[in-house]
Amino acid sequence: MIRSITQPKLDTALESLLEGYTRLFVVGCGTCVTLTQTGGAPQVAAMRERLLSWGKMVTGSTVVPVACDELSHEILEEHQGAVASAEALVIMTCAFGVQTIAGQFGKMVVPALDTLFIGKESAAGTFLEVCVQCGQCILGETGGICPVTSCHKGLVNGPCGGTKAGKCEIDPNKDCAWTLIYNRLKSFDKLDLMRRYQPPRHHNVEPKPGRFQAPGT
Ligand code: SF4
Ligand code: SF4
Repeated sequence: MIRSITQPKLDTALESLLEGYTRLFVVGCGTCVTLTQTGGAPQVAAMRERLLSWGKMVTGSTVVPVACDELSHEILEEHQGAVASAEALVIMTCAFGVQTIAGQFGKMVVPALDTLFIGKESAAGTFLEVCVQCGQCILGETGGICPVTSCHKGLVNGPCGGTKAGKCEIDPNKDCAWTLIYNRLKSFDKLDLMRRYQPPRHHNVEPKPGRFQAPGT
């Protein structure tokens, strides 16, 4: 299952963001951050306690089912009084949830988490980065192994000079992504694909924010 992977901000970073605010409302999410145990009900309860210990007043808290869903607004409306009396919302969701809620309320938002990557659960409670949505997918030329996320240097035109006995020079416990790609392409008799040059991206001409229009809409 694909999830938005987050980690709590350091206390020092969060305290700095909270400077000047006394009354706070805490929002968690019942989806990705519940699974990663960074913004579910227990973490929201712990955040309440932490804020109180920092001398803050918590006007209320809730865990919305899916923070990045537009319906979050209606759920938070149920806490209208507590939200209204807060000076800021402490949001324990990924950046998608923070931006959704920020767009729905005329309130300052304080993200309590850092969003790391889109991850896939590889074992209970363990998530691996699978894609950074680079916009130029080359999985068709790498046998389905993403070098952008699997290689420590994100190299897309073959291995660096440090690969040794199939292991990565940065982490010898880790297989070199390009050795994995080589072996996979070899098994399909498709090693010629490794000779295809992947041109550098022109980041300076990419329009921001990115926009996609579904055909026929
Ligand atoms: S190359 Fe990797 S990071 Fe880029 S879109 Fe494909 S899977 Fe995602
Ligand atoms: S050894 Fe392999 S995985 Fe490690 S940085 Fe070099 S090419 Fe990437």
